[in-house]
Amino acid sequence: MNRIIIAIDGFSSSGKSTMARRLAQTIGYLYIDSGAMYRAVTLYCLKHHLFAGETVRTAALRQQMDDIRISFCTDAQTGQAHTYLNGMDVEAEIRSMPVSERVSHISALDFVREALVKQQQRLGEAKGIVMDGRDIGTTVFPEAELKIFVTASPETRARRRYDELIAKGQAVSYEEILDNVKQRDRLDQSRAVSPLKQADDALLLDNSEMTIEEQQAWLLDQYHRVTGCSAHI
Ligand code: C5P
Repeated sequence: MNRIIIAIDGFSSSGKSTMARRLAQTIGYLYIDSGAMYRAVTLYCLKHHLFAGETVRTAALRQQMDDIRISFCTDAQTGQAHTYLNGMDVEAEIRSMPVSERVSHISALDFVREALVKQQQRLGEAKGIVMDGRDIGTTVFPEAELKIFVTASPETRARRRYDELIAKGQAVSYEEILDNVKQRDRLDQSRAVSPLKQADDALLLDNSEMTIEEQQAWLLDQYHRVTGCSAHI
């Protein structure tokens, strides 16, 4: 079977990770959440006092980049991929508000992007991968056979994120989430290195009015179309 690279980019909390993870499970591909990698670097900076307010101590971070090891491991009970930072499971911590508030400052640093993009490209060498993020179709895998760009209104995305965090027991307000979503959109689109933008050859999916099942069916159709494989798995 022809194994391909599937790049799913889009705005924060647009539901790309859920779509990407489910597609990977369905077709037996590796799933990588590249946002989790930027979040893990941000958490490292918080733990190692590399922030002064929202300002990053870039010289110190640059020196310590080689000490930051990020890996993924699937939880045997839930089947969900967990992110590890230097051997510690940080899956819950990287989704917290302190990390969300600072991650776009870390992801704007050229040397951080260079290091993470290299790791991401290595993960895709054997193909058979679904990766989601902001620059997967433009910078990480510009040759990806299937590229999707996902969007939805900021209010829809903030509501989804709010519901997700409340379900996990985190004390957050809808307003702070909406502010964070809008702020990250602005920073991610305006940064100098690999800004968030739709690749010329990416398919646009506005999922504001779609259920997860509808998105899933649409995505699977795109996969079948590109691979020329019409059989359902
Ligand atoms: O996808 P998620 O919202 O978890 O990503 C967190 C942050 O990581 C984004 O707001 C963005 O700043 C950064 N990111 C990035 N490039 C990627 C993936 C994420 O800059 N490929």
